[in-house]
Amino acid sequence: MASSNRTILHLDMDAFYASVEQRDRPELRGKPVIVGGDGRRGVVSTASYEARIFGVKSAMPGYRARELCPDGIFVAPRMSRYAEVSAALMAILARYSPLVEPLSLDEAFVDLSGSERLLGSPEAVGARIRAEVRGELQLTASVGVATSKFVAKVASDVNKPDGLTIVPPGSEPSFLAPFSVERLWGVGPKTAERVRAAGFSTIGDVAREPERARSILGELGDHLVTLATGRDSREVVGDHERKSIGAERTLMHDVSGRDAVMRQLRPLCDEVAQSLRAADLRAGGVRLKLKYADFVSVTRDCHLAAPAADSATLHDALGDLIVRAEVDRPIRLVGLAAFDLHPAARPAQLGLFAAPGERHERLERAMDAVAGRFGSNTLRRGAGAAGGGADGTGGVLPQGRRR
Ligand SMILES: [Mg+2]
Repeated sequence: MASSNRTILHLDMDAFYASVEQRDRPELRGKPVIVGGDGRRGVVSTASYEARIFGVKSAMPGYRARELCPDGIFVAPRMSRYAEVSAALMAILARYSPLVEPLSLDEAFVDLSGSERLLGSPEAVGARIRAEVRGELQLTASVGVATSKFVAKVASDVNKPDGLTIVPPGSEPSFLAPFSVERLWGVGPKTAERVRAAGFSTIGDVAREPERARSILGELGDHLVTLATGRDSREVVGDHERKSIGAERTLMHDVSGRDAVMRQLRPLCDEVAQSLRAADLRAGGVRLKLKYADFVSVTRDCHLAAPAADSATLHDALGDLIVRAEVDRPIRLVGLAAFDLHPAARPAQLGLFAAPGERHERLERAMDAVAGRFGSNTLRRGAGAAGGGADGTGGVLPQGRRR
């Protein structure tokens, strides 16, 4: 818990897919490159900085990107290429620490705690990693270094692209203060409404009135105060540990619209939660995956207020994430992954309060026990049972479970 003893680096590649395309195809350099489709069903996966100037963003419908940036060059994603580059990136990071936790292809935490004498100051390590990425991959990365994962992640974003931001121990609260509450982990759009209604709009507002945050927002308030004061104690989880538990389904018929997608996700949440409990794990983060009819996929992820292993918490988190994804076009596959896994036996990382999902988890564990004796369809959650197929799109084709 002595957070000031820790040194955590967060690295995030700049406009990753678009930058790889510009690197591999010199004719694209300096041009507005949009990875994704521009057709009626296309969606933007990543835009180069030249395209972002026009307002093109990830997850935007392709036709909208085309309107904003008529000269944009649309490029189909090459996921296997990006995965190759990602492997080379993670290999660079592994030179600096045995504890590297990838969050996605282009993003990772590295625990540098205690390595200062061997490797040099955080500034020096951050600079060296960025130089190696530039030299070996011909790509740029932004890096944040701080005493916790949360602050490091916020830091890597502030000087993007091609930035290095160090938040020295002790300066976390003043560094975080100006950011809006949406930056806090566990605060999706729905939660943000609650937090803002309570009169907290910046992280500094929360840090200044911890008692009021706790009394109005309860456990959530306690969690937010912990983050807002820079005391996040989550650990970097090394690559050798199990990274995620997920489930996805290719739908028999494409669906669109938030409610329809959420209905499809309900049984998958049950499945993932059950797998988590079976493995005695809790998830600190949840990822939503959607694949559109044109086979372009998007993912959105978030961290939970406290590690959870219950379907209700997973489903709520997906409800927050879906607001950040395009759902008004035909979707052929839905999925989720639970990541940032912690042994359930270990006390919740944020320590002082009971995880909000713990009650649900106990209930669902009891249901697991009954299901184990009588077959899995004996008991179903009310909402889950109501969600199956009423709209005529409920049929699903099971797909391989992913880890
Ligand atoms: Mg990135």
